[in-house]
Formats: sequence, C-alpha cells, structure tokens
Amino acid sequence: MSGNSLPSRVLIIDDSALQRTFAEQLCHTLGIHTTLQASDGLQAIELLRLDASIQAIILDLEMPGLDGIQVLHELVRLQLDPAVVVASARESVLLNVVESMGNSLGVRLLGVLQKPLTLAQLAGCLGRIAPRVALQEPPAQRPQGPLLSADDLQRALREGEFQCYVQPKVALADGRLCGVEGLIRWQHPQHGLLAPAAFIDLLEQSPFMSAVTLQMLDMALGHCQRGHAEGLTLSCSINVSAPSLADSRLADAIIERVAASGMAPALVTLEITESAIMTDLSTTLGTLARLRLHGFGLSVDDYGTGFSGMLQLSRVPCTELKVDRAFVDGASKNPQLRVLLESALDIGRKLNLRVVAEGVETLEDWQLLRQLQCDEAQGYFIAKPMPGEALLPWWRSNQARIRRLTETANVLCEDPALSAASSSVSA
Ligand code: C2E
Ligand code: CA
Ligand code: CA
Repeated sequence: MSGNSLPSRVLIIDDSALQRTFAEQLCHTLGIHTTLQASDGLQAIELLRLDASIQAIILDLEMPGLDGIQVLHELVRLQLDPAVVVASARESVLLNVVESMGNSLGVRLLGVLQKPLTLAQLAGCLGRIAPRVALQEPPAQRPQGPLLSADDLQRALREGEFQCYVQPKVALADGRLCGVEGLIRWQHPQHGLLAPAAFIDLLEQSPFMSAVTLQMLDMALGHCQRGHAEGLTLSCSINVSAPSLADSRLADAIIERVAASGMAPALVTLEITESAIMTDLSTTLGTLARLRLHGFGLSVDDYGTGFSGMLQLSRVPCTELKVDRAFVDGASKNPQLRVLLESALDIGRKLNLRVVAEGVETLEDWQLLRQLQCDEAQGYFIAKPMPGEALLPWWRSNQARIRRLTETANVLCEDPALSAASSSVSA
C-alpha cells in the first residue's frame, strides 16, 4: 500500500505506549516501515533536531512535560518543518481550535484526527504530504496592492469610477428574489477592477466616504428600480461605515435621495457593522434613530463577530440581523457552528428581526438554513456579486433552479457562463 505520496519516516509522539504501538501498526499496514517513537514532547523535539530525515509526526496533545500545543510552538521556534498529524481523544471543539492555531502558526498541518485512529483517516492525512520545498527560502512577500492616494479617490468620485455590484438575497421559504446588497467596486483606469479590500480603509479615512456612500445608494436604487419595472419588489441594502454614520448630515442626504427616487424607505436597508455602532455612539445612534423614524431598515452586519453584539442589539433600532458567514459556512457539518447559528436565529426571532444568512456556499448549508427557518440567504451558492445590469438576466436564467431548491433537494448548477461573467471580482 506504500506509495510515494506517503512519508517514509514517521515519528509517533504519545505518552501512552499502547497508543504508540497502535499508531505504529497502522503505519506499518500503510507501508511506512520506519517509525520512531517518543513518549513526551521534549524527547520528540530532541529527536527532530537530531534527525532531519523525519518527514512527518503523529502528535498526541495531552502529555506530561511538553504538551502537543507546546510542541507545535517549538517546531515553529526552532524552524523544524515536519508535516504534522495531530491525534487526540479530546472533544472536537478543542481539536478545531488546535487546527486553526496550527494553521495560523504556519505549521505544516496535514490534519487533526480524533482518536481512536482509523487506517483510512490516517492514510488520508499522511497522503496529503507534499514534497518538502527549499526550507531556507523566506515565504514570498504578498504582492502589494496598487498605491492609491486621496487624489485618486477624488478623481474616481468625480469621474464615476466607482461601480455598484449587486448580490442577490433570496427567501429561503419560497426561493423568491427579495432584494440585493450593493457592493462597491472601483474601475480604476490603471489598476483595473478593484475589490473593496484594496481601498475601503483609505476611503474611510478620507473626506469622501459619505459622498461615495450616497453614490452607491443612487446606483443601488437604480438597479432595484429596474427590477420593479419588471414586477419584482426588490429591497435595496447598502453598507454604511462608521465615519459616515458619525456625519450628522448623512441621514438627511439619504432621506432626500430615497424620496427623490420614489422608492419606499421600508425597502431600503442600511447595513451597519457592530463595530461601527460602537464608535462615536451619540452621533451614530442619532443618525440611526432618525433613519429608523423615517421608515428605513437597519441591519446589523457581520452579526456575531463583534464583542458586545447582544448589547448593541438592545440599543440600536434594527430590523435585520445579518449573520456573519463565519457561522454559516460549514454549519451543516460542524455542530459547534450550528449551535451558534441557531442561537443567532433564536435571538433574531425573539427580537422580531428578519435574519439573513450570508456566505451560503453549499446545498447542505442552504438546507440547514431552511430547516432552521432562517428568512433569507445570500452567498456564492445563490450567486456571486455581479454588475447591476446583470441582475435581471441572471434572475431569468436562475429562478427556476432556486425555486426548485425550495421544493426538492436537487442541485442544479448555476449557469456557468453567467457565473463566470458575473464574478470577475468576488469576495
Ligand atoms: P460585507 O458587507 O460583509 O459583504 C459581504 C462580502 O462577502 C462581499 O465581499 C461579498 O462578495 C462576500 N461574499 C458574499 N457571499 C459570499 C460567499 O458565499 N462566500 C464568500 N467567501 N464570500 C462571500 P466584498 O464585495 O469584497 O466586500 C467586502 C466588504 O467591503 C463588505 O463586507 C463591506 O464591509 C465592505 N463594503 C463593500 N461595499 C461597500 C460600500 O459601498 N460601502 C462600505 N462602507 N463598505 C462596503
Ligand atoms: Ca454588508
Ligand atoms: Ca457581512
């Protein structure tokens, strides 16, 4: 069963002799004949320092002396680079933490397994080992984004370089297209189409944020109204960041523009992150309260990621909770995420708020959200953000697929041509 994709020399680190022997037998069955053993972390580190040909380790977490987590830190500190399979009998939530921690430390983690080990799981993990790359070479620097200046922003605002992409939100109960979220893109004359990550911080620190928010509002209203002309009642959500909320003139400007557009304020939702609500509370809360008085929807964006989300909910007159994708993506497979998702839904229901799940990427997560009676879903599973003009053609060719998702468990893939065209910039 040995293949050249499996490591040929493996160190098993476990304080239980029985567990070491068991892991060794599994390795032998897989055709890995050279196994070494260490009964604690210190001994393991010594072996790894002496023997550079150890390609992989199977690491227990609970050990006297140096425990498994300390071993991972030592590997990084000493620049030792074996591939690592963590094997522990501890609860899966702890194993998830170890996995994230290992990955963020930069350990070459092949997997985290819950004991008792099985042959198939171990083979799967060890089989992920990649040939060792030149160790001494420092990791490639992340390519630096284009250098953008405040002058650039001013020109972009003046010349209309900002674009409003839209991402559909659909009702989980019946697959109806309920509305869109406007997401900013910058069609830069030199750098091409830029996603918000490349410029949103600069924009927020500039004097132009509120003006850009208003441009986005106008464009998003326009896209929704094209839907209205075709008989679709679409709500329009835009993102409003902390500096704009602290601008006491913003509420008036929004009220005026929405009135001028003829759109009902109840169909317009302002998405505000929890951290934005925290800053400069009095002006921010004043802006939010006025908008709510005029009938606008207010959504707590990225719900669950802020530190005192629940407290903010009692202070802000919101109408919608937008559950962060960290709690949505993979919730169907991860019981801990599922509990957090359920509790967000529960809070939303008790406070009489509409709950929107963002970051829905799979059929399984979609089905879970339906089962949990979440109101609306948004995510790549439905559609990636697309230019506003692509919305109605997208809906025409995808509505049958989405409606069917509310009747049966059939998946029909999104029209690939459209999805490619609509996602030149995403996430
Ligand atoms: P957000 O408001 O949380 O928007 C959702 C982000 O998640 C969008 O990224 C969207 O493309 C991405 N997304 C949607 N579905 C999925 C999915 O299924 N999987 C994954 N992995 N990602 C998904 P985008 O467009 O890059 O925007 C990033 C952030 O930039 C937004 O996060 C928002 O905070 C900010 N932003 C975007 N447009 C504006 C704007 O007009 N004004 C302000 N102030 N902020 C904006
Ligand atoms: Ca948002
Ligand atoms: Ca969000």
